[in-house]
Amino acid sequence: MGLNSERIGRDNLSFILRRVHVVGPQSRSDLTSLLGLNRTTIGSLVRQLESRSLVEEQQMSSSGLPGRPSHVVRVRSDAHLVLALEIQVDSMAVGLFGLGGSLVRSRRIASDPREVGPDETIAQLLGAAREFITDDDRDRIVGVGVGVVGLVRSVDGVVRLGPNLGWTDVPLGAMVRSGLGLDVNVRVGNEADLGGLAEYLRGAARGIDDAIYVSGEVGLGGGIIVKGQLLAGAHGFAGEIGHAVVNPTGMRCACGATGCWETEVGEQALLRAAGITADGNPRRAVNQILEAAASGQPVARAAVEHVGRWLGIGLSSFVNAFNPGVVVFGGLFGRLEPLVEGIVWEELERRALLACRENLAIRPGRYGIDAALYGAAELAFEPLLADPTLAPARGPQSAGSSGRRKTSVVANR
Ligand SMILES: [Zn+2]
Repeated sequence: MGLNSERIGRDNLSFILRRVHVVGPQSRSDLTSLLGLNRTTIGSLVRQLESRSLVEEQQMSSSGLPGRPSHVVRVRSDAHLVLALEIQVDSMAVGLFGLGGSLVRSRRIASDPREVGPDETIAQLLGAAREFITDDDRDRIVGVGVGVVGLVRSVDGVVRLGPNLGWTDVPLGAMVRSGLGLDVNVRVGNEADLGGLAEYLRGAARGIDDAIYVSGEVGLGGGIIVKGQLLAGAHGFAGEIGHAVVNPTGMRCACGATGCWETEVGEQALLRAAGITADGNPRRAVNQILEAAASGQPVARAAVEHVGRWLGIGLSSFVNAFNPGVVVFGGLFGRLEPLVEGIVWEELERRALLACRENLAIRPGRYGIDAALYGAAELAFEPLLADPTLAPARGPQSAGSSGRRKTSVVANR
């Protein structure tokens, strides 16, 4: 096979695997018309993916109609796994996922990165991961994805700045790579970008190719999807909408500037609006405010509405700039959304251009606090989806296999 036809073959394998991974089971005839190839070629491509334990085929004969039986191709979610890791401001998580976005299991634990610093935080994360995966899992892991609340440089997975973690220039990708001892790709992405990716591929923004994901906890992260792709910028730092200035006479932000959007809508803003100084457990205080607001308690209600108003004020600029089909609220904002939907719309109607907002939908996210963990799994599968021949072949088709594992540290948004 020449180099060119080898590449075309790989691209076709990639198309089929990505399609069944993201969209779900496909009939052979769907694939035939999608790829514009004949049935024999599709059959051969599917067999190659089967030989690498990436897909399986089922014969569907239930229609009772005459003619050739239909074959349905679906992912095998058990043979190849990815490890997803996540670092937030007050917790960290580990998860194992199979193809098709299927969660095997996950675990979230409390943490305090600000208190213990980056080295200890990453050591805790790696310790949790090592404890979490069994020997059997280890043999099946084909990639690692890491989500972190900070600005991640695409080329090497360095966290240039994590304002709410207190991190500057932390080589997270390299540290995870060397600390885990798994000879697989490690990719690092920004937490809100990965949350946006998960909500776009399988969640509240599914099927809408222009979307904005706005995730709030301590800070505010944004993931912007343009024509089905995450907006990365020149070096991977795009989407930092939480640091857009909305109130120049407002509060000082963790990034050093004054009046960033996140200073008006993050957890601290909600607590401040409710007149609460929660040093011990801000998350519990936030939960109490949300519950009280839902039951109509006036002070909590006013605090939630204050945050909702600033959410709408900030959002109007991004609706004008990106004309999204959907805005998905994740994390704290996902829980806030039902309480503040009317106020957010009030501000959008006052400030966003009619043409930019007239077909807009606003929804809470599907994945809640775990959105970035699901997105990290997608990031970790990306090398295999791009080149399914990275999975080892068995049987007669193993000749020419490029082997299962490719070693590199790649960061991505
Ligand atoms: Zn800021």
